[in-house]
Amino acid sequence: MATLLKRGSRGAAVRALQDLLNRANHGAGFTPLPLKIDGDFGEATDKAVRVAQERLGLVVDGKVGKQTSTALKRAAEDVKPGRVEPDKSAMLTPPPATATGGDLAVPPPNVDSLDLLDTARAISEIIVHCTATPEGKDFTVADVRAWHKARGFSDIGYHYLIYPDGRIMLGRPIGQVGAHVQGHNTGTIGISYFGGVSADGKSAKDTRTHRQRSSLLWLVQALIAKHKGVRKVTGHNQYANKACPSFDVRKDPLGALAA
Ligand SMILES: [Zn+2]
Repeated sequence: MATLLKRGSRGAAVRALQDLLNRANHGAGFTPLPLKIDGDFGEATDKAVRVAQERLGLVVDGKVGKQTSTALKRAAEDVKPGRVEPDKSAMLTPPPATATGGDLAVPPPNVDSLDLLDTARAISEIIVHCTATPEGKDFTVADVRAWHKARGFSDIGYHYLIYPDGRIMLGRPIGQVGAHVQGHNTGTIGISYFGGVSADGKSAKDTRTHRQRSSLLWLVQALIAKHKGVRKVTGHNQYANKACPSFDVRKDPLGALAA
């Protein structure tokens, strides 16, 4: 769905959307179900789009662009965890004392293909996380997505994720409210780096590679430039009694970016 679909749109793309809406909302108890697959974006389709946008934490405007169609596809997807999620008990320990410094914001290796989308969703804060996976393990965005979907989320909970080699990956669309900190999802962006636990899986550890730190700084700077309302950058452990992201954002160069 490359073009924006809205009330009055017709044709094959609308038929595909209607089918997607029926699948994405299946079991969610929304009425009327199912939509007639007639390729006519009329009142019923408009209502179904708005109900889905509301339910998925998207901006409710009845228009289906890249972010709404992505969110619908992810909600409709039935993904099964390939690899078991590592034990997260290490996150219950206090964050380790870390001292980082001298990092510079450097564009990620995949900067040319990275598309930081805009949103009408008001953003006031960026919250940093770790995936709570052991250092040196090559878990992927698909793994984390499957774990989060298994918890009942419509998609992966974070908006951006950073691989050890510094690549920045898209999670759920930026226009969709995240699922990363209880009580602090509205108005925030969730970023997670892969790692945060020692290789033996036993303790919280700031496992960020030099490239992850550089990409994290670059991404947070880029998001602050894009979303003018951002007033602070924080870590999950400032809101919950857990180690995530396994360092103190307030003592990291990240913490000063929005000041
Ligand atoms: Zn977290």
